[in-house]
Amino acid sequence: MKPKVPGREVLLAAGGLFLLPAAALWLLSERPEAEWSPRPVAIARRTTVKVKASSPHGFRRVRAILEQDGRRADLYSIQNPPTRFTFRKGDRRPREFTFAAGQDQLPELAQGKARLIVEITANDFRAAAERLVAEVDVQLRPPSVMVVSGRIQVTQGGSGVAVFTPVGSWTAAGVRVGDRDFPSYPLPGSSTSRFALFGLPHNAGAELLPVVFARNRAGMEATAPLNVSLVRLPRRKRDLKIDDRFLRKVIEELDPAGGGSPQDRYAKMNRELRARDNRILESLRAKTEPKLLLSQSLERWPGASVQSQFADLRTYNYRGRRLDEQVHLGVDLASTKQAPVTAAGDGKVIFAEPLGIYGKCVVVDHGCGLQSIYAHLSSLRAKPGDLVRKGQELGLSGATGLAGGDHLHFSLQVGGLMVNPFEWWNPKWTEKAIFSQLAGITDAPSGKR
Ligand SMILES: [Zn+2]
Repeated sequence: MKPKVPGREVLLAAGGLFLLPAAALWLLSERPEAEWSPRPVAIARRTTVKVKASSPHGFRRVRAILEQDGRRADLYSIQNPPTRFTFRKGDRRPREFTFAAGQDQLPELAQGKARLIVEITANDFRAAAERLVAEVDVQLRPPSVMVVSGRIQVTQGGSGVAVFTPVGSWTAAGVRVGDRDFPSYPLPGSSTSRFALFGLPHNAGAELLPVVFARNRAGMEATAPLNVSLVRLPRRKRDLKIDDRFLRKVIEELDPAGGGSPQDRYAKMNRELRARDNRILESLRAKTEPKLLLSQSLERWPGASVQSQFADLRTYNYRGRRLDEQVHLGVDLASTKQAPVTAAGDGKVIFAEPLGIYGKCVVVDHGCGLQSIYAHLSSLRAKPGDLVRKGQELGLSGATGLAGGDHLHFSLQVGGLMVNPFEWWNPKWTEKAIFSQLAGITDAPSGKR
């Protein structure tokens, strides 16, 4: 006999009355989203960790924990009153949660591995949680750094090399001048010492003191001053006359669709296009080989005459009106029309294409951040990836880009900073200031990577 279930329909109806809204609330609930910003790889005594999270219905709970060998510390915790039935669509934009993680928070924390956990819970009916876990290195000892180089004489706008030994655990080391870092490379013949080519800005003052640095993954950094004596660079001012023929030529080539008076368009190109092109050239430092591809001075374009000095302050005048002022961070060399332009030293072509004011342009990487730039060419006879020897043809000289007549604009950069080519063209300077500094240095007593 089938048992009679009393009031089954009534129960179902009553259950439905509850279940339907519950199902709706469940479906309306949304899972929070969270990500590390950036993902932590190492922590020290007190390392700042950031998490970006969004939760359309708000945050019921946010919690960050540091764990090592069964010990744990709460790093961050917020708890909001639950809104299970009354949650509303809120702000979808991610919020940033910042907290400190390290030995200050977990005193027993030891060198080795640890785990960071962040849990983020939505403030709605379902209260779904998102959990981030990162395995991190604990690095409580900062690296240290010992300068090997003696006194280094550097001219404004010139180059130098520093030799030093980072000690302890480190991931980045080099020379810093102002806010610019020059990376370092293993010193040939040494298992511990490193060297970095660096440059000083053409307007560097005595306040700009180069230092060597070594930094570990946790961001702990050691620095040591370099013993640098700064030599002033004599500066020249040059007035450049701009005529209508030149204006027409460069506007047609570089700004055919622009508006405004020819003089204004020229001044704009001279500033904005120059700045953009210089940023592109600077970014090529990332493409450098981690070893020096040359062992001697660079060669100045043979048979050419020097038309300008490095870091000339140029005033551009049009019919007596001053249009603009720029520092010329290269050297102009003149030869015959469409003369073969040759590589200043052994290296690898990393750029060969038109580049704004520089026209058809080739860049040769000589390794360790040293790169030579050949501009205004009429034709290119090299392509990225080509290995070239000193004297090898790269293209023909011309007047492409911001050039009035056929000439070669030659620039040299170290770590993306344009430096004075005359130094590197001088065999005596190159030997004394660079190569002899790299030779004959024996291993320092300690230091490991
Ligand atoms: Zn030039």
